[in-house]
Amino acid sequence: MDCFRIKFYRTAKGLLMVTSTDSRRLTAIEALVLESDSSADVGSAARPAFFLDFDGTLVDLAPTPEGVVAPEGVVALLDRLAAACGGAVAILTGRPLDFVDARLAPLRLTAAGQHGAELRLPDGTTVTARSEPLGVARTRLTALATDWPPGILIEDKGLAVAVHYRAHPDLGAEVDAAVAALTEDLGPALHLRRSKMVAEVTLAGVSKGRALDRLMREPPFRGRTPIVIGDDVTDDDAFEAARGFGGLSFQVGSRAGHRADFEIDGPAEVLRLLDELARGGPAGRRPSP
Ligand SMILES: [Mg+2]
Repeated sequence: MDCFRIKFYRTAKGLLMVTSTDSRRLTAIEALVLESDSSADVGSAARPAFFLDFDGTLVDLAPTPEGVVAPEGVVALLDRLAAACGGAVAILTGRPLDFVDARLAPLRLTAAGQHGAELRLPDGTTVTARSEPLGVARTRLTALATDWPPGILIEDKGLAVAVHYRAHPDLGAEVDAAVAALTEDLGPALHLRRSKMVAEVTLAGVSKGRALDRLMREPPFRGRTPIVIGDDVTDDDAFEAARGFGGLSFQVGSRAGHRADFEIDGPAEVLRLLDELARGGPAGRRPSP
């Protein structure tokens, strides 16, 4: 029931091709690699465990946070991937778990929601951080928002409060500064987390990296090689954490200063890659009903 082995190639375009060494797939794999004339084996990993961001990684970003939809087939794909590696697939997201569960239904993968403030362990139990420190932040952000135009959205996730300014990028610096000042004022129990067009007040001590560390202590993740795929600055913690376990990380799209080992174009390419990997799994394993 061991997982397939995978290899990584860097292509002339800087794109990565991840390939199975399963001989049944070799012809297709070689064809992929041959698209690049300067491919070189830059690493390999056996028995991977996958830690996948959601927005901007498995799904394209949308104009509003609620507008995100999972592309057709993504649920079946994640199910096949999990079946191919003993269930070692986790979602690491800034979203609440409920949000991701609704979009990936009926799948309920191991997952860290709200950057790890909610953690669903592989056995299905959920560990939730204390939310009290966020009470005052919530009230004060709501008051601040009265000065902002309607397109600036306050998203109360329960264990984090996010301010989205995608509709008003011109106000980004102002909004960010206001949220930063408020967070600073409220003391060390809270932490400002910045991502694409979002400034978010979160609980201190919570990160995707810590979530990965925690999950790597549990079967079926324990002893595997973590592969992290994410697009945003909040994924950097997980990229670094993976390195501590000898793992590998992928930045989706370009981002200055990212801490991933490799880059990959976008969600469509991520899904294609995961599909390749899921196909490379042991023969005879099929998606669960
Ligand atoms: Mg993301």
